Amino acid sequence: MENKVVAIVPAAGLGERFGKGTNKPFSGLGDKPLIIWALETLQSIPEIVEIIPVVKDRDIQLCGLLFEEYAITKIKRIAPGGAERQDSVFHGLNLVHDHDKDSVVLVHDGVRPLIEPSVIKEALKQLPGFDGVVVGVPLKDTVKEVREGVVRSTPKRDLFWAVQTPQIFYYQALHNAYEKAMADSFYSTDDSALVERNGGRIKMVQGSYTNIKVTTPEDLLVAEVFLKMKAGE
Ligand code: C5P
Repeated sequence: MENKVVAIVPAAGLGERFGKGTNKPFSGLGDKPLIIWALETLQSIPEIVEIIPVVKDRDIQLCGLLFEEYAITKIKRIAPGGAERQDSVFHGLNLVHDHDKDSVVLVHDGVRPLIEPSVIKEALKQLPGFDGVVVGVPLKDTVKEVREGVVRSTPKRDLFWAVQTPQIFYYQALHNAYEKAMADSFYSTDDSALVERNGGRIKMVQGSYTNIKVTTPEDLLVAEVFLKMKAGE
């Protein structure tokens, strides 16, 4: 892909499920802070020209120093977080001024440290012809629709995928979808959902079951195991 890609990395969550008093993106994984893993991988992708992390207001200064220490040189600006993930990504998106009609935005959760460069490259390759590309994996478990504790239906499992990040979009498609969602006060936990709602065509690319989102302290232990597995490959 020859288009210029800007990566937005939301990392301004409250981390409520992680335990009080901890700041999840900066807790240690292996020999470095959790967020640095994803940032180093994004930094290594030649198509990515800029990385915009989104962190809580009070962490911006500390983060600036941390990103310098780890030489994440593609970070030039840091955006302040918002109340919901969608607000945080929107703040990052509003800092993308230097774009043309072929510009591409990649959104990747700061708490998904195990993303493989090969998956990012494949997702970027698949973008032409679509408005966006999302990375996900086919569901292993059967899902059920449940309301008030009662099973309503069991959809056919082979139609369903669990969606992860990165999610990659042409700037125009993502920006228009965000503007519209914000104007309508429509909220989703997923960037692609906003583009789909705007009529966008999205391609699914198979990623890896190891690209977990570190949400609870147990996930950090799982991530450590996956890291050791990778190191032994
Ligand atoms: O809360 P959720 O699991 O959807 O968070 C996914 C990512 O979005 C995390 O990296 C988290 O730090 C980030 N986030 C954010 N601002 C929020 C909520 C979540 O940047 N208000």
